[in-house]
Amino acid sequence: MPFGKGRCWRFRRTQAREALIKLLSRTKGHLSAEEIFWELKKVLPGVGLATVYRTLDLLTEIGLIKRYDFKDGKARYEFIHNDNAEHYHLICKNCGKIIDYEVTLEEDPLKDFKNSIQKKFNFKIESSDLQFYGLCENCQKLEK
Ligand SMILES: [Zn+2]
Ligand SMILES: [Zn+2]
Repeated sequence: MPFGKGRCWRFRRTQAREALIKLLSRTKGHLSAEEIFWELKKVLPGVGLATVYRTLDLLTEIGLIKRYDFKDGKARYEFIHNDNAEHYHLICKNCGKIIDYEVTLEEDPLKDFKNSIQKKFNFKIESSDLQFYGLCENCQKLEK
């Protein structure tokens, strides 16, 4: 399976885990636990919401997926396809559209900024979680 390097893969793979990983790795976007639950129910009718929450926690812990808070009152989950990239989000406050901006660590425009922070605070940055809030192209047109 094309999972990234360095990930702990020793946990017991139950049906729910397998199905959840398959679902998230094929889904583009950012699903809430409830949305994941309803999607998962289509392939695993017996699955419970508690199992979904538990499995999402586990997959987040081992670094296979990321949990985001886009300030809409729900945690959202996304499969990590590329370990070697930064993944920023542009979030439309009007329609809720989430635009992914993924860039390799090498080409990250914030590289210099991060380097200066690392020096200033003598802090080693391992990851960052950055969201930009505003209006998408469509919603800007509606405002005019
Ligand atoms: Zn919008
Ligand atoms: Zn994303």
